[in-house]
Amino acid sequence: MLTDAPPRKNRADFLESDRVKSLDVPPNGMLLEIAKRLDSAMKSDRIADVRRACAEFLVTASGFYRVPTCGIRVLAARPLRVRERGTFELFGDYDPETSVIRVWMRTAVRKEVTSFGTFVSTLCHEFCHHLDFQKFGFADSWHTRGFYERAAALYHHGRGTPPKKLFWVPMSGGRWRIDWQRTNRGA
Ligand SMILES: [Zn+2]
Repeated sequence: MLTDAPPRKNRADFLESDRVKSLDVPPNGMLLEIAKRLDSAMKSDRIADVRRACAEFLVTASGFYRVPTCGIRVLAARPLRVRERGTFELFGDYDPETSVIRVWMRTAVRKEVTSFGTFVSTLCHEFCHHLDFQKFGFADSWHTRGFYERAAALYHHGRGTPPKKLFWVPMSGGRWRIDWQRTNRGA
């Protein structure tokens, strides 16, 4: 994972996004329970159930963070042509103008099924873009160190796994990448 380079505009928002490294999570296990339903829906390949569980996850999370909920489209396969608008991801995207998250269950070319972990991680990642606009009021939603930390906090909560401390390595141009060896070792 690599952060975005600092932008020329909206520097203050970018620095704030980078600085905020924690995210409160709901005090109950509701998201975990919904994620478990999502897991079984994915295993049985029922896209309507996957969609329902995703929508429930997002409505519950939006309620907790007191933001308007976002829309969700679950696609069977990644679209071959993705419009260059909003943020673009490998397994999903988020359109800040419509507040709609799209996630896909299969990759475009090889039609491999996205793993449950990757799917939940994508859902949390895209939802954090939504939070950047709706909760934090940032002018844009960048992939900063803080952004990845917030997305990770939500992901670990949703999966019931202990959060990991992320270790970062500076790159050129003001970017950072995660040092996975140290992160996985925890020191
Ligand atoms: Zn993103």
